[in-house]
Amino acid sequence: MTDLQEVLDEIAAEAASVEDCGVVAQYIPELAKVDAKQFGIAVTLPDGTVHSAGDSATGFSIQSVSKVFTLALALGKLGDSVWSSVGREPSGNPFNSIVQLEQEKGRPRNPFINAGAIAVVDLIMAGHQPKEAIGEIIQFIRHLADDDSILIDEHVARSETAHGDRNASLAHFMRSFGNIDHPVDHVLGVYFHQCALVMNCRQLARAGLFLASQGRDPVTGAQVVSEQRARRINAIMLTCGHYDGSGEFAFRVGLPGKSGVGGGILAIAPGKASIAVWSPGLDRVGNSKLGTAALEQLARRMDWSVFGA
Ligand code: GLN
Repeated sequence: MTDLQEVLDEIAAEAASVEDCGVVAQYIPELAKVDAKQFGIAVTLPDGTVHSAGDSATGFSIQSVSKVFTLALALGKLGDSVWSSVGREPSGNPFNSIVQLEQEKGRPRNPFINAGAIAVVDLIMAGHQPKEAIGEIIQFIRHLADDDSILIDEHVARSETAHGDRNASLAHFMRSFGNIDHPVDHVLGVYFHQCALVMNCRQLARAGLFLASQGRDPVTGAQVVSEQRARRINAIMLTCGHYDGSGEFAFRVGLPGKSGVGGGILAIAPGKASIAVWSPGLDRVGNSKLGTAALEQLARRMDWSVFGA
């Protein structure tokens, strides 16, 4: 049997020796300051045990990985009516693209591109002040990670707000079609805060465990989402979780995964493991370069691809 810890140690050692680890996100000044030469990985198994290597206890900005959790939260609150505001097809476009939105009359292709995640936030905000919605999101993630110490980095949230013209355009555009109910600055305030959540790989892998375990947190026994819903969230992660790099990720790694421009990726091996990897350097489409390479290795060596060993 392959020894998981040994595999993780080898992957981390290899990552440390790579020269070209990609480029950190430049368009959010606070993220541009992060040292690209960092790498962490953590794997949580259905019995709750955690294996990790590298900088797995270093916090990072989870950015778009948060979109998995807000989708689960919105589905829990509103059920399948979420799908009248947002679709579930891969976009084949960059995460902040605006072109498709016009053709499709303000209904974003899926909940993992920026427009889709902003529409999901608008749904979560129903009946709430922005502060309360932020509180609800953070509580949900703390509950999933079983860790009350998880916080939001206000500097990152403010940095993104100050440079958020593209996301503001997406939100205004959707609002012009009636697909956003709340004032745009309120919705963006919540969205930028959810993106600015700080977690480390160990916390993130733990928070994703319900998706590897039929919607149930196997440690606490809490049913987070139904089995069918967990399966469907995984399906959307596989098809849409890496934007216009989703096909390539499925080809190389073969697991449902969600990336963020902070360099984090949450990947799910259904029934087997929840994996979080982080390395801040990104590839051309904004996905962690070493993170993807690490997951490719891990899935291959553990025979975890959903497409068969
Ligand atoms: N907060 C980032 C943005 O809205 C999230 C994008 C990402 O992680 N891909 O641009």
